[in-house]
Amino acid sequence: MFSLEGRTALVTGARTGIGRAVALGLAAAGADLVLHGRDDDLGEVESEVRRTGRRVSRWVLDLSDPAAVPEAAARLGPIDVLVNNAGIIRRAPAAEHPYASFREVLDVNLDAVFLLSQALGARMLARGSGKIIMIASMLSYQGGVNVAGYTSAKHGVAGLTKALACEWAGSGVQVNAIAPGYIRTGNTERLWDDPAREAEIRSRIPAGRWGRPEDLVGAAVFLASAASDYVNGHLLAVDGGWLAR
Ligand code: NAP
Repeated sequence: MFSLEGRTALVTGARTGIGRAVALGLAAAGADLVLHGRDDDLGEVESEVRRTGRRVSRWVLDLSDPAAVPEAAARLGPIDVLVNNAGIIRRAPAAEHPYASFREVLDVNLDAVFLLSQALGARMLARGSGKIIMIASMLSYQGGVNVAGYTSAKHGVAGLTKALACEWAGSGVQVNAIAPGYIRTGNTERLWDDPAREAEIRSRIPAGRWGRPEDLVGAAVFLASAASDYVNGHLLAVDGGWLAR
C-alpha cells in the first residue's frame, strides 16, 4: 500500500533540507526520482538517491521566474508524484517589508507552485492518476511575525491545495499538503541560530524539540502512495504538536 515502485516523483528544491530528505525517503519507498534544483549542483543528493538503486535525473530551473515554468515543465517525462517543496522566506517588519521581497516570495512559493501543478496536473488528469503534495507551513494557519509575504504565500498554498483537490479528486488526482512545524534547515537558520529565539520556540513545541527534515518522510510517502487514494485537499501537520497547543 505504501510502495512507490514503478512511480516517478519530482521533488522541487531537492538539494537541501526538507526537499532532500523527502526525495531520499520517496526513493527508499521505491520511487524513481527527478531532482529539481535552482542550479545544476545536485551531485550529492543524486549520488545518495542512486545508492538506493533507483533511477534519477535532474531538472534545473530558477523558479523566481514563474513564467518560465510551463515551457520547462513540457520537457519533463511522465511524473506520477509532484512535491512542491522549493521555497524562500524574507523577514522584515510589515511596515517596512519591501514590495520586491513580498513579490519575490509570492513568485517562488505560490505562482511557481500553481504553474507547475497546473502543467503536471493536466497530464495527470489525462492519465487518470497522480499525486501532488504541497509543502505548506504553520503560517498556512497562523500570522507569524515579520513574514507578511511568506504568510500570504503559504495561506495561498493551503487554498490552492483545496481548490485543486476539489476539481481533480474525481479524476484520480489527489492534491494534499504537508504543513511542517519548526524544522531545522536553512529556512529557519535565523531562528535556531539565535539562542533566545530558539529556546522560546522549543518551549512551545509539545514534543520538546525542533523537527528534523526526516520527520516529514512518513507523511510524504503516505501522501505519495495508494494509502492516501481517498485523501483529498488535506493539510497534514507534522509539527510536534505545535498546532494542538
Ligand atoms: P531550504 O533548505 O532553504 O530549502 C529550500 C529549497 O528551495 C532549496 O533547495 C532551494 O534551492 C530551493 N529554492 C529556493 N529558491 C528557489 C528558486 N528561485 N528556484 C528554484 N529553487 C529554489 O529550506 P527548507 O526548510 O528545506 O524549505 C523547504 C520548504 O519547506 C519550503 O517551501 C519552506 O517554506 C517549507 N517549510 C519549511 C519549514 C521549516 O521549519 N524549515 C517550515 C514550514 C515550511 P537552492 O538551495 O539552490 O537555493
